[in-house]
Amino acid sequence: MSHTVEIISVGTELLLGNILNSDARDLSRELSGLGLNVLYQSVVGDNPGRLKAAVELARSRADVLITTGGLGPTCDDLTKQTLAEVFGRELVFHPECAEDIRCFFARMGKEMTENNLQQAYLPAGCAVLSNAWGTAPGCAFEAAGTYVVMLPGPPSECLPMFKERAVPWLSRLSEGVIRSRTLRVFGMGESAVEALFRDRMNQLQNPTLAPYAKEGEVELRVTAKAATAEEADALIAPVEAEVRALLDDLVYGADVSGLEQVVLEGARDRGLTLGTAESCTGGLIAKRITDVPGAASVFKGGIVSYHCEVKAGVLGVSQALLDEKGAVCAEVAREMALGARRVLGCDLAVAVTGVAGPDPDERGNPVGLVFTALAAPDGCWVKKLNLASQAARRDRTRNLAANHALDMVRRWLAGLNPEKDCKEAEG
Ligand code: ATP
Ligand code: MG
Repeated sequence: MSHTVEIISVGTELLLGNILNSDARDLSRELSGLGLNVLYQSVVGDNPGRLKAAVELARSRADVLITTGGLGPTCDDLTKQTLAEVFGRELVFHPECAEDIRCFFARMGKEMTENNLQQAYLPAGCAVLSNAWGTAPGCAFEAAGTYVVMLPGPPSECLPMFKERAVPWLSRLSEGVIRSRTLRVFGMGESAVEALFRDRMNQLQNPTLAPYAKEGEVELRVTAKAATAEEADALIAPVEAEVRALLDDLVYGADVSGLEQVVLEGARDRGLTLGTAESCTGGLIAKRITDVPGAASVFKGGIVSYHCEVKAGVLGVSQALLDEKGAVCAEVAREMALGARRVLGCDLAVAVTGVAGPDPDERGNPVGLVFTALAAPDGCWVKKLNLASQAARRDRTRNLAANHALDMVRRWLAGLNPEKDCKEAEG
């Protein structure tokens, strides 16, 4: 039997446009990866009457309802009360939840106000989804053929709660197990990837193959359903091999958090250290590398050389070169990388200089013109990028530039040419 899902996001802030409904996006993506069909997403304010109506409508057209938000301790948090009423359940006190909430506050070194205990009241007979990422527990229950899951609103709680708590509970909806493997692709646009695999994606049923566009890169997710995890993995393996055969070294990893993880692990495995010299990315590459746990054993440091004075004074970029060509050129990128490698005493240094926009620089270089460079023990490589067509926004230009810089390191670590032209198929 195939199940249908409706996500109901609760929060007046969502309706006012104060925040983006990223919970619905995250959950939809996860649910489709599990093979559950999301048919509707709805958004409703913190209003019990309208929430009730939304739940009634949702249960008439879907059999799995997932709510986000409104589980907290304040008076506008009324998701539990309202759903309990719709499904005819009392709210009962769960001492173990109260204890979790007390512990959470103690860990944070904060005083707990009494209203927080309201969060320990959950619908009778529900499965408690304990919250290791915040205070409000979620809950799940089945009522007359409808499966209800309630998750907290903050995205940093909602997504891990879904993955760690709701998915095991929802596994009752599918016979056997669902496993997926996400291949990460850098250097080819989403529509090109899609075109390449369109026929295969239409043919494949188990496993399925689906592309997801991420900022500046593409994910290909292979999802299989089988009686056991081993059988599911065995179904996934040949499709993964097929993808890798076609995309070759554009596949940079499987089930990884991003290029930074692959770079960090690659460098650590070989006992190499990293450093950065960043202009238009303003420290973004350093930030992304240090987001990965364990970065300290590999990352020596980064220099944000935004101003030419710092490029010359700290990194030793030639003043004559800066005067003659300006900061955005291949030679400066190269000298920045070499300078960072020397100053930081690291094995591999990446550098970025470019025009993030919104306006061209004072020399008339267009927005999106970026040079990335890699200095390594065996040489220095520079890559010229024109990101303008793909990057209308400043933050996007910076993200793409960081991706390209990290990919140079990734390629070098994998024994590939770091400056191999990317197959930029889009834009
Ligand atoms: P809390 O215990 O923090 O009050 P809650 O479950 O009651 O959690 P809400 O009060 O509805 O959740 O929302 C808390 C915060 O979570 C909001 O201010 C907002 O920043 C974020 N948030 C809520 N819903 C969403 C959503 N659908 N998408 C993204 N962020 C959300
Ligand atoms: Mg709240």
